[in-house]
Amino acid sequence: MALLDGKLLAAELRAELAPRVAAFVQAHGRKPGLDVVLVGEDPASVVYTRNKEKAAQDLGMRSTLHRLPKAATQAEVLARIESLNSDDAVDGILVQLPLPEGLDPTPIVEAVRVDKDVDGFHPVNVGLLSLGRNALVACTPQGCMRLLRGLDVRGKHTVVIGRSNIVGKPMAQLLLAADATVTVAHSKTRGLPELCQTADILVAAIGRPEFVRGSWIKPGAIVLDVGINRVDGEGGKSRLVGDVAFAEAEAIASYISPVPGGVGPMTIACLLANTLQAAESRLVNR
Ligand code: NDP
Repeated sequence: MALLDGKLLAAELRAELAPRVAAFVQAHGRKPGLDVVLVGEDPASVVYTRNKEKAAQDLGMRSTLHRLPKAATQAEVLARIESLNSDDAVDGILVQLPLPEGLDPTPIVEAVRVDKDVDGFHPVNVGLLSLGRNALVACTPQGCMRLLRGLDVRGKHTVVIGRSNIVGKPMAQLLLAADATVTVAHSKTRGLPELCQTADILVAAIGRPEFVRGSWIKPGAIVLDVGINRVDGEGGKSRLVGDVAFAEAEAIASYISPVPGGVGPMTIACLLANTLQAAESRLVNR
C-alpha cells in the first residue's frame, strides 16, 4: 500500500504556483487577491477561513477576510458580494458555507461573478464543467484528481459515494472527463458494500466516520477518503477520521489517502490555484 500524500502534493502544487504569482505581481503591479466572506461565528468556519487566508498570504497573494455579523441580512451579504464583484483588485471571491440560518445560500452563491467564483459553485461553472469546457472547478474534487495524477484512471470502474454539489457530483464529472467509468452512490443505493467491491477506484464523500469497511474494498483498489469527521479520542481529546476505516483499508488498497493529510491540504492548494487562474484569465480576457 502507498499513501496518497496530500501534504506533499499540496506543497508541490504551491511550489508550481509561486513563480506564477511572482510573474503576475511583476506584470500587473499588484498581488492576485482572494476575498473571503464569513457570516457569523461558526467555530469551524472561523478556522477554515483563517487557514485559507493564511495559505493565500503565504503564497504571496493578497487575502482579505470580510466578517459580517450573524444577524446580517440577505441584502447586506449580497451588497458585500456586489462590491467585491466590481472591485478590480479582487480576483477570487469565496463565501464560506454553511451560512447562518435565515440566509438563503442559493442567491448568494449565484451572486458571485462567474469569473471570480473560485469555489466553482456558480451554476455557470458547474454547467461548463459538465460540458467538458474550461471552468473554475470545485476545489475538493479538483484536489482528488491531482492525488490521482500518474495513476491509471482510464476505463477503470470508479464508485463515488456521495452526490453533494460540492464533492460527489463534480468528482463524478471530473472522473468521466478522465475516461473513468463512474457509478455515483448515495444514501438510497442498495447493496453498497457489494457495489464498492467492484470499484477499482473508490471515493468516499459521505460525512460518516469510518463508514466504509475494509471488507468493502476490492484488493488493490485506489481509495480516496474525502471525509473529515471529528470523533472522541484518547484522554478526552477529539481526533479527525475519514469516511473509510483506514486501519482495515490500508491492508487491502494499493493506494489510499489518509485523514488528515490527504484530500484536505489539496483542497486549500486548489483554492490558491483557482484564485491564480481567475486572476490570470480575467486580466487576459479584458
Ligand atoms: P453532504 O452531507 O452534502 O453529502 C453526503 C453524501 O453522502 C450525500 O450524497 C448522501 O446521500 C451520502 N450518504 C449519506 N449517508 C449515506 C449512507 N448511509 N450510504 C451512502 N451514502 C450516504 O456532504 P459533503 O459532500 O459536503 O461532504 C462529505 C464529507 O466530505 C464530509 O465528511 C465533509 O466534512 C467532507 N469534506 C471534506 C473536504 C475536504 O477538503 N477534505 C471538503 C468538503 C467536504 P443523499 O444525497 O442520498 O443524502
